[in-house]
Amino acid sequence: MTTAVVVGAGPNGLAAAVHLARSGVEVRVLEAADQIGGGTRSGEATLPGLIHDYASAFHPMGIGSPYLATLDLERHGLTWRWAEIDCAHPLDDGTAGALHRSLVATAAGLGEDGPRWQRMFGDLSGGFDALAADLMRPVLGVPGHPLRLAAFGPRALLPATVTARWWRTERARALFGGVAAHAFGRLDRPATSAVGLMITAAGHRHGWPVAEGGSRSITDALAAMLVEHGGAIDTGVAIHRAGDLPPADVVLLDLAPRAALDILGDRVPPRIARAYRRFRHAPGAFKVDYAIEGPVPWTNADCGRAGTVHLGGSFAEVAAAERAVAAGAMPGRPFVLVGQQYLADPTRSRGNLHPLYAYAHVPHGYPGDATEAVTAQIERFAPGFRDRIVAVVGTGPAGLAAANPNQVGGDIIGGANSGLQVALRPRIALDPYRIGVPGMFLCSASTPPGAGAHGMCGYNAAESALRYLRKQGLASG
Ligand SMILES: Cc1cc2nc3c(=O)[nH]c(=O)nc-3n(C[C@H](O)[C@H](O)[C@H](O)COP(=O)(O)OP(=O)(O)OC[C@H]3O[C@@H](n4cnc5c(N)ncnc54)[C@H](O)[C@@H]3O)c2cc1C
Repeated sequence: MTTAVVVGAGPNGLAAAVHLARSGVEVRVLEAADQIGGGTRSGEATLPGLIHDYASAFHPMGIGSPYLATLDLERHGLTWRWAEIDCAHPLDDGTAGALHRSLVATAAGLGEDGPRWQRMFGDLSGGFDALAADLMRPVLGVPGHPLRLAAFGPRALLPATVTARWWRTERARALFGGVAAHAFGRLDRPATSAVGLMITAAGHRHGWPVAEGGSRSITDALAAMLVEHGGAIDTGVAIHRAGDLPPADVVLLDLAPRAALDILGDRVPPRIARAYRRFRHAPGAFKVDYAIEGPVPWTNADCGRAGTVHLGGSFAEVAAAERAVAAGAMPGRPFVLVGQQYLADPTRSRGNLHPLYAYAHVPHGYPGDATEAVTAQIERFAPGFRDRIVAVVGTGPAGLAAANPNQVGGDIIGGANSGLQVALRPRIALDPYRIGVPGMFLCSASTPPGAGAHGMCGYNAAESALRYLRKQGLASG
């Protein structure tokens, strides 16, 4: 039987494994950690009984993933849950922009900018599924919906600072800016609108759901499906060199490019090795998990109904904080994302004790403690928050990298979204999943379409591996 080894049981490794197993390949997944899931792991972090997401939290791109949508993961225990409001972005004057799944409800809350919001996102969210099918594949492929792509391209290529000028109110500009900041880079650089436009459009199409019981339910469901198709997963097995790999017809690495190079060494052609060495990682995240008693006392009521709350003040302030972080300086008031997953999924709380999730954008490899900066940003928009804290655990870039080596220097998006690397990652190639060593493929978020628990990097890499196997006469179809 044709065999495959997948190194790393993150959402991409497992999506690749499921696709190969469903295509008749015998698959074995090797995972270094004791728990599968990579950036979708969840469990206790502060107090017994409170379920925290260790990494991914909200999944507009997961529920909108063209591959995951084909799998019926619900049959294996995945249940999506939505908060009443997907995302809120409060300002110092007590107002907030609020992103609802409904375009009309979002527009209604944005006053004079409502019609402009609808014009910006109406066609994008209406055609989101077709657009995602094209954008979540390697960019140099033939698009299935060229007209939609042609309409999106020019808008996506604009710096977020230019797109923000489309709106007149600070509420709308800041709401867009907070979402665009998910790109983890300077908002005045070309193509920084792409991430903001896509994640907002995905929100209007599918919402920003959490997985009931914690994000781990996404990869637990993938793992159950893999086992159902005859696959196996070994945890606690780290691969450091080619000799550690069991024999297989194809090997897929759910790893950062440098880690793949460390394993394969001079078997990688020099041109590709150079590209992997030059691959740029993103700034870092500083994660803070709280146990709080009662709700966060937000000044703005919409924040108390929102799954995600973006903290950073005005668009200009968010852009300045992102610029500082990209330049390697820790801002006094960093951009902070707060997750209130328990609003959508009460199973994560214990009575009146809730797990609160937050992370700040910090410089790559930031060695300091940003816990107080995160707490101060929450307190700024929710006076009295400190009094609700029962327990707090801060994890900086070094801790994130120790928990998962793919999170190099605290980079949680698998590589910088700057320059051509936004789309052409980890190198410019028609098939970016090929490592240049026969039968070896990269399938992590460092390949297109990049970060997120959507499994599309894994699916695309598995497609590339199946093409290779067919050429070798080892797979049919
Ligand atoms: C704090 C944080 C917040 C995030 N928020 C969101 C969010 O809200 N929504 C969203 O969609 N995404 C979010 N993400 C991003 C998302 O988690 C990642 O993009 C996604 O997990 C990438 O999947 P992957 O399979 O490529 O890699 P990973 O999930 O990183 O999995 C890689 C796996 O490989 C294993 N591994 C590494 N080295 C080896 C080795 N040498 N041998 C064997 N195994 C190895 C690791 O232990 C890990 O299990 C967040 C990430 C973080 C850290």
